[in-house]
Amino acid sequence: MSKTKKKPKDPASMRVLFVTPECYPLVKTGGLADVSAALPPALNRAGAEVRLLLPGYPAVLNGLTDLQPVGNPLTDLPGGAPATLRIGRMPDGVLAYVLDAPALYDRPGNPYLGPDGKDWPDNAERFAALSWCAAGFAAEDGLDPWWRPEVLHGHDWQTGLIPAYLELRPDRFAGPFRPGTVTTIHNIAYQGLFGAWMMSDLGLPSAAFRIDGVEYYGGVGFLKAGCFYSDRLTTVSPTYAHEIQTAEHGSGLEGLLATRAEALTGILNGVDYDIWDPAIDPHIAARYGAADLGGKDLCKADLQATFGLDRRADAPLAAVVSRLTGHKGLDLVLEAASQWIAWGGQLAVLGSGEPALEAGFRHLATWFPKSVGVRIGYDEALSHRIQAGADLFLVPSRSEPCGLTQMYALKYGTLPLVRRTGGLADTIVDANPAAVNDGSATGFQFVNANVQELTWALRRAAALYRKPERWHVLQQHAMTRDFGWHGPAEEYMELYRAVAPVLVG
Ligand code: ADP
Repeated sequence: MSKTKKKPKDPASMRVLFVTPECYPLVKTGGLADVSAALPPALNRAGAEVRLLLPGYPAVLNGLTDLQPVGNPLTDLPGGAPATLRIGRMPDGVLAYVLDAPALYDRPGNPYLGPDGKDWPDNAERFAALSWCAAGFAAEDGLDPWWRPEVLHGHDWQTGLIPAYLELRPDRFAGPFRPGTVTTIHNIAYQGLFGAWMMSDLGLPSAAFRIDGVEYYGGVGFLKAGCFYSDRLTTVSPTYAHEIQTAEHGSGLEGLLATRAEALTGILNGVDYDIWDPAIDPHIAARYGAADLGGKDLCKADLQATFGLDRRADAPLAAVVSRLTGHKGLDLVLEAASQWIAWGGQLAVLGSGEPALEAGFRHLATWFPKSVGVRIGYDEALSHRIQAGADLFLVPSRSEPCGLTQMYALKYGTLPLVRRTGGLADTIVDANPAAVNDGSATGFQFVNANVQELTWALRRAAALYRKPERWHVLQQHAMTRDFGWHGPAEEYMELYRAVAPVLVG
C-alpha cells in the first residue's frame, strides 16, 4: 500500500493489465466471464489501452488468434511449472496475454474443478502462478519489455496475490515504476484459503504470515491478501460495497473491509447489448423491441414447446437461469412452486450445481410436466431463449454482488422478481403502487429470504400479469432502462487515474 504521491494521469495513455481467470466466450462459469469480455473493450473506447492476462486453458489457447510467444520462458513460477507467455487476440480483437503452463492449465472443462466436482488440489499454485506472472510485468526485466502496464487490475481471489507480490517481493518485482493495483471482488463468498505451510511454495516471505499480511484464519487467504495490499478495491454494486462491510455478508472480511472503506468503491456491472438485445439476438425464435413486442409471443410459444409446457399464451411463465447454489435462494423457488402452479403459472429452469437442488427441480418437473420444465446443464443459447420467452425472471438470491441476469431480463421485457440485496436492490424498482403510478417500476422485490415473502411477490406479479395494459407499461419501462458499460467504464477510468503512477518523459 505504500505508494509515492500521484498526480492525475492522462486517460489516453492508460495501460491496464486486466487479469482474470475466466472470459466469455472462451471460458465461463459465471458473471465474471461476461464482465471480463465486455469491460475491457468499453475501457478501450473510453481511452484506455487494456490487455487481458488469462490462464492457458485449452479453450483459451485454441480460441485466441495470432498467438505468439513473448520474451523468454518463465522459469520461476511458484510451484516450479515451466511456462511460456504468449500474446494473441480475443474473438473481438482485444489483445490477450496467456500464461501457457500445461502442467497447471491443460485440463478440459470447468477451470476450477476436477472431474470429481472438487477443487483441483493445486489451485493455490495455479492461481499464484497467474498472479506471479501479472506482477512480472512490473519487474525490472518486465515480462513484456515493450508494454509496461500502469495499472494491474485483478479479479477475485484468483488474482489476490498480485499486489502482495509487488509489496512483499521487491527483490523480484521492483521495476522502473510501480503500477497501481486494483482488486475487484465479484463474489466475496469465494476466498481462496490455503494451508499456512504453502507460504514458501507460493513465494511469500514467512514474515508476511500475520494479520497485517496474508494470514487469514490460520491459512493463506488470497482474497484477503488482495483486500489488504491493493491500492484500491472495487466491488460490483454500491449496495454490495456496503453489505460486505457487515458480518452478514462479509464472509469474515468485513472488519478489514471496514478499515479500507475509503479505498472501496461499488461500481455496478453493465450489460453487453451487442449480445443481450432481443432486437438482434440470433438465438431467439423472433426478434422484437420495446416499440413492438409481437415477437415475444412467438418466443414464449417456442419456449413452452421446448420445455414441453402447455401452449397457453395466458399462463404467466416464470424462469430461472442460474448456478444452482444455496446463496442463489432457489430452494425458496422449489417451496413456492406448487402455489405458483396453482395460480396457473408455469416455470422454466436452466441451471446446474448442488445435487440436492438439481434433484429438487427434476422432481418438480416430473410432478408437474405441463407446468414445469427443467434443464440441468449449461446452455448459452437456451439461456437467451429463456430470457426472451419468459414473462417473469426469478432471482431470489440470499446474496447477489451485482447479478447480470436480471439486467438482461429487463432488456427482454421479462420482468425480474428479485430479493432486495446487492446489485438486485440497485437495478430493479419494485412495482409498489407509487412506482407503478409514476412509471418507474421495472419488476418485483421482496425483502426477507423466506417462502412467504417470495410467494407474496409472486402473487403480486400474477395479479399484475392479469392486467395486460399495466404489465405492458412495466415492460416498456424495463426495456428502455440503460445498463450499458459506458458509465461503469468511466468510473473505472477515474479509479485508474487515481492509482496510476506519474510517468515522466
Ligand atoms: P453468477 O456470476 O453469480 O453466476 P451472474 O448473474 O452475475 O451470476 O452471472 C451469471 C451468468 O451465467 C449469466 O450470463 C447467466 O446467463 C449465465 N448462466 C448461469 N447459469 C447458466 C446456465 N445453466 N446456462 C447458461 N448460462 C448460464
